[in-house]
Amino acid sequence: MITVAEVIVDVAAYPVDRPFDYLVAPEMAAIIEVGSRVKVPFGPRNVLGFVVAIKDNTDISMNKIKPVAQLLDIEPVLTHEMLELAKWLKQETICYEIDALQAMLPSALRAKYEKIATLQTEIEFLPPALQEVFRTSHKINVKVFEKNNLLNELKQALNDKHISIENIVKQKGKVKEIRKVEILDDSIKLSEIVDGISNRAKKQKQLVLWMQNHQGEIMDPNVIYKEAGVSPQVLQAVVELGAASFIQQEVYRDPFTKEVKRTNFLNLTDEQDIALNKITAAINEKRPETFLLHGVTGSGKTEIYLQTIAKVLAEGKEAIVLVPEISLTPQITERFRSRFGELVAVMHSGLSVGEKYDEWRKVHEGKVKVVVGARSAIFAPFENVGVIILDEEHESTYKQEDSPRYHARDVAIWRSQYHHCPVILGSATPSLESFARAKKNVYTLISLKERALKQSLPTVEIVDMREELKKGNRSMFSMDLAESIQTRLDRQEQIVLFLNRRGYSSFVLCRDCGTVLQCENCDISLTYHRSNEKCKCHYCGYEIHVPKTCPQCQSDHIRFFGTGTQKVEEEIAKLFPQARVLRMDVDTTKTKGSHEQILEAFGEGQADILLGTQMIAKGLDYPNITLVGVLSADTSLHLPDFRAAEKTFQLLTQVSGRAGRHNKPGEVFIQTYTPEHYAIELSKAQNYEPFYEREMHMRHQAGYPPYYYLALIQVSHEDVLMAADYAGKAVDWLRSQLSSNISIIGPTASGISRLQNRYRYQCLIKYKIEPELIPTLMQLIKIYRSDWIKKGILLTVDLDPTMI
Ligand code: ADP
Ligand code: ZN
Ligand code: ZN
Repeated sequence: MITVAEVIVDVAAYPVDRPFDYLVAPEMAAIIEVGSRVKVPFGPRNVLGFVVAIKDNTDISMNKIKPVAQLLDIEPVLTHEMLELAKWLKQETICYEIDALQAMLPSALRAKYEKIATLQTEIEFLPPALQEVFRTSHKINVKVFEKNNLLNELKQALNDKHISIENIVKQKGKVKEIRKVEILDDSIKLSEIVDGISNRAKKQKQLVLWMQNHQGEIMDPNVIYKEAGVSPQVLQAVVELGAASFIQQEVYRDPFTKEVKRTNFLNLTDEQDIALNKITAAINEKRPETFLLHGVTGSGKTEIYLQTIAKVLAEGKEAIVLVPEISLTPQITERFRSRFGELVAVMHSGLSVGEKYDEWRKVHEGKVKVVVGARSAIFAPFENVGVIILDEEHESTYKQEDSPRYHARDVAIWRSQYHHCPVILGSATPSLESFARAKKNVYTLISLKERALKQSLPTVEIVDMREELKKGNRSMFSMDLAESIQTRLDRQEQIVLFLNRRGYSSFVLCRDCGTVLQCENCDISLTYHRSNEKCKCHYCGYEIHVPKTCPQCQSDHIRFFGTGTQKVEEEIAKLFPQARVLRMDVDTTKTKGSHEQILEAFGEGQADILLGTQMIAKGLDYPNITLVGVLSADTSLHLPDFRAAEKTFQLLTQVSGRAGRHNKPGEVFIQTYTPEHYAIELSKAQNYEPFYEREMHMRHQAGYPPYYYLALIQVSHEDVLMAADYAGKAVDWLRSQLSSNISIIGPTASGISRLQNRYRYQCLIKYKIEPELIPTLMQLIKIYRSDWIKKGILLTVDLDPTMI
């Protein structure tokens, strides 16, 4: 009988997206499993791949089929669920299966990080079956040998060669190992050893006597030297006598920078209690129900998450909690760790490759029960999920912009069906899509209308900046806001100043000819950075020194414009010289842990004003913040994005929610040049539903989600004519295939018409329900993969585009 593995190979943009058959050698057949990574020959080289099925037959003839070259994992890295999920993602987002598989794993397990240890020289003395095991695996551990009854054979072989088992049987992963001492757990043996030590070896005797009080413990050798008062030589001698042994212990790289205080469960308010009961019922009845937890800022949603998780853990199940992005992570993860301690793993982009891998392994090995993480944590490989929570479910960071272009919300719902558990979508400002689904009873709506501590919502003042100009005030601060800042400074209360910088940057402009410095590779103006006097493209990283003269007209009237956080900081220094300011933006948060440091410093009252961008809009929960100022509410309104109004409303509600969360009342000033815009006007009342109604009306009229679905097709090429030509070909082909009630808009040049030296065209498809659309798009992808790709065309399909 033969063993054949079906393998999905890691080859970028290969036209054929299906598994390939490889023959498995008999020795490997005993240990290979579905979900393991392998190395297989593909064309001229060996490539990484994933075993997606094992079978005993193949259509390939025996003289053609190639063998699996190496088995990389003894324990599969992908569960059955993940393999199923990958197939679904491939269909749902139109991606390569390999992209879906890669998205589920930490990058440490990807080909570029892999260093396979060769054990060849050490294994020649082994029996042939064992040699094969060593050759085919770089992760050798005792478990493998136990599994295959090879352990005794191995021990014998090692004994014959006088090689200690520690030297050869080890995990060749990327785990840090440290040396520890394990003290013998046998009092009779220990006293025999003491008796056997000659009187001259006093120190050895002293050490073994000390060890009698530490039987069976595993200790750091340095602790022993110190506590027992002996040298390393003495410990070595005692180990040789058999009183203790050296062992290697794996340690995880710890991403947590500081200790967390334990907190207790709070007594729930009536609203919280009702919510928890509804969710608990779904957990008990194993119902894959999706709840939309719509609660005003400060209504205690997080406390509901915490108590839900406690229930899930009591059932012996696991919980996945998604939070939008890195900025939220320090304070939020702390709240989870304060309840569940060591049972919590964190996963977000701020961790190093090694840390991410270690956190993933804690999940994979069942050492933790709760994951708190950003988007990709939705793939945490738990096998018995009891609840999945998406906090701030409306956040656009839950959508991945690269292949696989998935939305974490959709993956959460898929997994909840697999595990028969509920999903909680939490937000003060739900996405229109989710709220519409709740209204149709696809999701179960739970509302929290009051703040947990019964504080009133802050009072919100909209300030018309055009009036300020008329009054002769050219400052970034309206008179009302400036006055309120001064009052807070006098009262020693804290202030949050928010600069809406979405789609806005400080650019460099020539006052004589109007030239704006542009990126060489992209259709984007360069952003000015005062800290190093450079101009940088935020899309491709291109960077130049600020020129002394205009590259176009050589005038020296070249200046930077725009309201960056640095500029605001300078103005604060002029207006409020006594104020202590902390600034939080991309520039001040480059180094690891700087988020935490800034927030902690502010929390401890080391500054009066926290000035920042999007990063400070969410999650902040400090009692002394009583004033929030939004310096420029409009900038996000005028982006080429059908969700611009929704995002602006969400942002204003979120940032306003930072004020007066505890016992001191809060006040908010929103400065704007368009006070009459409904997204701004309605944010004053902090009332979601009127905004929802208004925005739904707009979407209906314009034919956008949630009334219509969208698909965005992008075509790019280094040559502008090629890009335009093939975008046209794609559109013509789609028109020939799709029914006329689907509207196909385009091709048009993309909003950013050139990016990283490629010209970009796009076409937008709007549709209601169209069973033919996905198969047709798949067909287009086939044409592209088999032909256009060779001509340097790049074509992508996004079935849920955010920016269009
Ligand atoms: P949200 O996540 O809805 O913005 P939080 O969970 O952060 O709200 O709660 C806001 C504040 O109220 C926090 O300081 C939290 O500790 C407190 N809080 C929440 N629930 C309760 C409760 N039942 N009793 C007392 N304080 C609570
Ligand atoms: Zn000029
Ligand atoms: Zn660029």
